[in-house]
Amino acid sequence: MMIERAPGLLSGNPLFFRTFLLLLTGLLLISGCNQSRKPYRETRFVMGTLVDIVVYASEESASRLVQQAYIRMSEIEQEAHVKGKDSPLTRIREGEGVLLKGDIAVVMKTAMDVAEATSGAFDPTLGKLVELWGFNSDNPRIPKAEEIRRALEWAGYERIPEAGCCPEGTRVWLDLGGVAKGYAVDEAVRILKEGGISSGIVNAGGDLRSFGLKPGKRPWKIGVQHPDNPQEIAGVLAVEEISVATSGDYQRYFVRDGVRYHHILDSKRGYPARSGIRSATVVTPDCALADALATAAFVLGPEKGIALLEGWKDVEGILIAEDGGYHMTSGIGKTYPFEER
Ligand code: AMP
Ligand code: MG
Repeated sequence: MMIERAPGLLSGNPLFFRTFLLLLTGLLLISGCNQSRKPYRETRFVMGTLVDIVVYASEESASRLVQQAYIRMSEIEQEAHVKGKDSPLTRIREGEGVLLKGDIAVVMKTAMDVAEATSGAFDPTLGKLVELWGFNSDNPRIPKAEEIRRALEWAGYERIPEAGCCPEGTRVWLDLGGVAKGYAVDEAVRILKEGGISSGIVNAGGDLRSFGLKPGKRPWKIGVQHPDNPQEIAGVLAVEEISVATSGDYQRYFVRDGVRYHHILDSKRGYPARSGIRSATVVTPDCALADALATAAFVLGPEKGIALLEGWKDVEGILIAEDGGYHMTSGIGKTYPFEER
């Protein structure tokens, strides 16, 4: 679902006559056409979304390292979503005692930190509920109240004694969909940097991390999508080395009888969260954290969401409310220049 826009396609806004946009769910990377050096760019479908990688390096090393970055992201996808009977997630569900290792252990640490800080507004144990609604399938549906009640019996982050997880009999249904993509972006960037690339950006449909500056020492310009019309831009953030993640009700949803049902769930009620927010964008160095906090802020709503982000070190955010209003932390516009559209 990638749309490569011709210059000027977003007419009515003259600035865009000199830009091209690559549209992915959540965030847009905006690049001027008058760059001296052309970036190497590739887009592939990984982790259920289009992952766009842009780097400034020679074609040969860029193509090799970008390839390795995609392979690493696929590995994480396998680990975080695997349904096989030997997967740790399945074994925990079946009541085995499991000590998490490797990528899942790292992802769970971030997930549990955010779950605890939000009293479970972000909850990594909603797996059964997520499956029931089917937002990751071709046939999402509204479950019956009884089905939701039963799915919630598998949930509850507080049943997990520590992030390393689960003694025998814990029987929770983990789902790391709200944080794993961000972690995969962190890992992709690590591979690119370790391979010697000094500047680039990895954008996994709403979870993005940049490193270095563009040629000419210019910052990256990140367009935050408009929830009403995701082809339009609500505002532009100028950033250097940072992660930006967006959770929005327009990313995965269906409409039934005029009601929008989206993929970010209220862990207490079991229905799509209705907190008065359309989208939550979080800016912080670590993309896994940005990802989890964006999901959490969406569930918490404008006031509690902003309070959460303000209280977290090195975290800023922009929440777009249902009434169209912007709620921003104090560093937006100061630490990170932000231009509303
Ligand atoms: P994101 O797109 O990052 O906001 O994450 C949404 C994904 O995280 C969903 O597709 C589910 O897999 C999972 N999820 C949904 N609701 C929650 C929640 N309240 N806490 C944690 N994960 C959630
Ligand atoms: Mg998230």
